[in-house]
Amino acid sequence: MFSKVLYGQGMSVLHPNPQQPADQLDRRLRRMAQRVGSMGLFVVPCVLGLSASFGHVSWIDLAASAADMVVLGAILIAALRNQHVRSVLYSGLIFLFVIFWCVSFGELHMGLTNSTSFALVLFVPVFLCLALDYRLLAALAPVQALLVFSYAYLYTAVSGPAGSPAFEIVGSVYAVLSGIMFSLVSILAWIRQSTDDELILALNEKERLASTDSLTGLMNRRAFMDSLNAFCATESAFVVAFLDLDRFKPLNDQFGHAAGDAVLREISSRLQAVPGVRAAARLGGDELAIALDTSLSGAELDKAVASLHACLTRDIEWDGKTLSVGVSIGYATNARDAQSLPTLLKAADTAMRRAKAHQIGWASFSADRDGAALDTHSPEIEFRSALARGDLRAAVQPIADAGTHEIVGYEILSRWTRCGLRQTPEPNEFIPIAERLGLLNELLWTTLDETLQSGHLRAQRLAVNISPAQLQAPDFVDCLMNLLKARGVDPASMTLEITEQVAYRNIESNVEMLEKARRAGMTIALDDFGTGYSSLSMLDRLPLDKVKIDKSFSQRSGSSDRSDSILRASIRLANQLNLTCCVEGIETEEAARKVRLFGADEIQGFWVGKPILLEDSRLLFKQAS
Ligand code: C2E
Ligand code: CA
Ligand code: CA
Repeated sequence: MFSKVLYGQGMSVLHPNPQQPADQLDRRLRRMAQRVGSMGLFVVPCVLGLSASFGHVSWIDLAASAADMVVLGAILIAALRNQHVRSVLYSGLIFLFVIFWCVSFGELHMGLTNSTSFALVLFVPVFLCLALDYRLLAALAPVQALLVFSYAYLYTAVSGPAGSPAFEIVGSVYAVLSGIMFSLVSILAWIRQSTDDELILALNEKERLASTDSLTGLMNRRAFMDSLNAFCATESAFVVAFLDLDRFKPLNDQFGHAAGDAVLREISSRLQAVPGVRAAARLGGDELAIALDTSLSGAELDKAVASLHACLTRDIEWDGKTLSVGVSIGYATNARDAQSLPTLLKAADTAMRRAKAHQIGWASFSADRDGAALDTHSPEIEFRSALARGDLRAAVQPIADAGTHEIVGYEILSRWTRCGLRQTPEPNEFIPIAERLGLLNELLWTTLDETLQSGHLRAQRLAVNISPAQLQAPDFVDCLMNLLKARGVDPASMTLEITEQVAYRNIESNVEMLEKARRAGMTIALDDFGTGYSSLSMLDRLPLDKVKIDKSFSQRSGSSDRSDSILRASIRLANQLNLTCCVEGIETEEAARKVRLFGADEIQGFWVGKPILLEDSRLLFKQAS
């Protein structure tokens, strides 16, 4: 239905368009024709001049040379103009072959032969036909043998007794030799041609792979950009649409990457089934882009994109499960929305981000609504409204007992979901932004409240990350206590994870705030131990109950004895100071076993569990319990 609404005639150029082998063979043939034409036009006058200097030039030679030059000129012109190269080259070469034999028989008839004539009729035709196709060479082999035999016969008739047994033997030997020579050249040409064909096919396959996304078979970013550049040069109007899948990450997390791959493949094949999609590409991750060929505009185009959206968001059956993903589409037309390709892409991208941020499915670029965003769109601008909209969500990562591997608590981490930006910022990108905007505490209340409200983690030990700026608010601990009280949570189940940066500025007031939290029963943990400048002195200066040894230590452990010694010493130091010691970044069972032997109390890392959005964790934890 979509196709009926949107497109007049279907065009399907979904794959990159590497040069066909035929194109490349034609180019090779053209180069060969150029060489034959130019070399011939040089050689023929040279030979004629040489013969003249020995006084051997007859009128036949002159006429034949003139005919040769005409033929060679025609071959060269065809090659330069790239017109009918194959037919002109092959028929020209056969013509040269015919001219040569006419001259040879003519001279024989006129008694102008000499001792070299026989050698010439054996070798010159082979030389003339070297550039011919192997099939033509094979066809000419018996002709050449017959002509040599006839030549030998006439030659003997002119200069000796024809029909003698000696002549018949010699003539036949020459004829057979000549035919064999042609056949050998034909075989060599066949070998050369088939090797070239194989090479070209291999090169084409390499080119295809380099421009194709291996998972979906769509173009990759580079090939897509090449196609768009080609459209810009040839088309007056086309539409570029950016597509970004919604809820893709949770789907991947919940069902695994195989499910994610299946979704991408299915969406891609649905895209490919739409006639009028001139180019379709996977730009990376869950981002796709298409170029549409359309004569529609305005409301009709909107309607057509709406049905494309409906088609792509249909449920997907996979492995007995029903998977559901959303797609946000933004599109722009080169004729209406942008003068240049980069602006067109930016316009489609901006429209897509608006569609995603407002969860409206699809949006066409609008100068009024997207114009400002086109220039100023950035995480800084988006963050405040995203937080207000509830797009910043809590993720939780389990922390386990190092000996029993039982979950002893969860760390709360922030995630920016439903982000309308091209790339969803990671915590390491948006936490500094939140800090600049003075919104870190807002963020903490939001994510902590989400966790406490959700119920299934309320009774667990919970850890939150606290940046130095957050402690600057004089009512920080009071606000935190109020929130915990409102949700009926014991402050003793809370851990505040701080970094040594709290000691870099305003250390007295920060320490006072931490002491207050501690008095209320909370645990204070020094996070990322070992990554700062003065981790050791922090153990003395800050009121601490726990140390979290940074993941870089466990990840380097095993690479050398020295790394292991550092990890062991850090753990022992924490033990001796009576601090609970948690090692981060545990990605394998072996690492977990090792840090246990070194004396760690707790472990955290992908092996124990990856951070998972709270809203997705409910199911998981239910399954685990
Ligand atoms: P962090 O406190 O050290 O949190 C642990 C980080 O390491 C998380 O990155 C987590 O995804 C990652 N991680 C956990 N286990 C493993 C592992 O086994 N291997 C590897 N390679 N990585 C692992 P994430 O979530 O990107 O957070 C980065 C940092 O951002 C956090 O480091 C924390 O300092 C900060 N952060 C995150 N959310 C908040 C927040 O709400 N408020 C504040 N103030 N800071 C936050
Ligand atoms: Ca942390
Ligand atoms: Ca950490």
